[in-house]
Amino acid sequence: MTEFCVRCSAPAGIVMSFAYVDRAVWLDDLVEPVVPGSAYAMCEKHAGRLTPPVGWTLVDRRTAARPLFASLEVA
Ligand SMILES: [Zn+2]
Repeated sequence: MTEFCVRCSAPAGIVMSFAYVDRAVWLDDLVEPVVPGSAYAMCEKHAGRLTPPVGWTLVDRRTAARPLFASLEVA
């Protein structure tokens, strides 16, 4: 299963979802197929640039330990 970023079509690893009633935006690890209309697949770059509308809350629920970043921390 491969999802692609809605912004740039790169392979996506993150899913963004939101709820108007809660005025909340969530970022999660992409672990299951995205349901069209309720969530959007995004690549690392675009999820990182995401800014919620004024008055909304962005909740990053992604797993803390990310191999991609760990590999950059070379002593
Ligand atoms: Zn992207």
